[in-house]
Amino acid sequence: MNGAIPAPGSSPSPPAAQAAGPALIDSHSHIDDTRFDADRSQVVARARQAGVGLQIVPAVTAASWPGLKQVCSEHAGLYPAYGLHPIFIAEHDAGDLARLPQWLQRERPVAVGECGLDLWIDEPQADRQRDIFLGQLRLAREFDLPVIVHARKALDEVINSLRRIGGLRGVLHSFSGSVEQARQLWRLGFHLGIGGPVTYPRAQRLRRVVAQMPIEHLLLETDSPDQPLCGHQGQRNEPARLTQVLAVVAQLREQPEAALAAATSANARALFNLPDPMADQVAEPMA
Ligand SMILES: [Zn+2]
Repeated sequence: MNGAIPAPGSSPSPPAAQAAGPALIDSHSHIDDTRFDADRSQVVARARQAGVGLQIVPAVTAASWPGLKQVCSEHAGLYPAYGLHPIFIAEHDAGDLARLPQWLQRERPVAVGECGLDLWIDEPQADRQRDIFLGQLRLAREFDLPVIVHARKALDEVINSLRRIGGLRGVLHSFSGSVEQARQLWRLGFHLGIGGPVTYPRAQRLRRVVAQMPIEHLLLETDSPDQPLCGHQGQRNEPARLTQVLAVVAQLREQPEAALAAATSANARALFNLPDPMADQVAEPMA
C-alpha cells in the first residue's frame, strides 16, 4: 500500500485545493439528494474548481436508485454505490434487498452502500436493520465490492458483524468512535471516513484519532448536504468544502495539504477501483 502513495514534492507545495487537475475525492457525497435539484450542475462545477474532481455517491433507498444512476450519468466524476441506508428502515421492504443483486450485476457500481446500523433513530426496528445490513455485507463479499458503512449507537456491533462475515473491505463513514474501535477497523482492513465533525475544535477524541491514525486508512468526505462544517452550521453542506476538511486534517497531522490530498485520493482510488488519474485530467470547461 505504501508504495502507491506518491512522494510529496521537495519544493514548498502549493495549496492542494488550487492545484492543477482534480486532486481530491469526496468519498461520501449525497449529490443526488433533492436539496441539490435546483443547482446541482453549479455545485459539481464549484467542487471541480476547488479541486474536488471525483465524488462517491452512496444510495439511501431502492426508490432512489434510478435517480442516483441518472445523476451520476449526467456529470463526469460521480460514481454511484447502491444499497439500503439504515436510517430509512421504514421505507425498505424485503423485495428491496432481493433486487439489489440485479443492480450490482447490471450497474457494476464502485461499492455496496450506504448500509449499516443506526440505533439512535426513533423506532429503529433493530432486527430488520440487522437483517438488511448483514444481507448487504454478504452481497458485497459475493460481488467482491467494498462496503460503505454507517454506524450510530451501534459501532461495536457493526465491527463484530464485519468481523463475523469476513472477507470484506470498505469504509466506516463519518467515524466517531474511540482509538480502540479505530484500531479494530483498520486491522480488519477498513478505512475511516473523516469529514465535517473533525472541523469542530470540541471534537477532541476524533481529532486525536485523526492526528495519529495510519494514513493508508484515511479517507476524506463531506456527507453533503448533511454534516455542515464548523462555521457553516445550519447551511447545506457541499463537496467543494472538502478542501476545508483537508486543511484541518493536514493541520492536525502536521502534514502538507498536497501530500495528504495525494495520499487520501490514492486510498480512495484503490478502495473503489477508480479509473487512472490521467483519465480525468481532460479538464471540462466551466459552465
Ligand atoms: Zn451518507
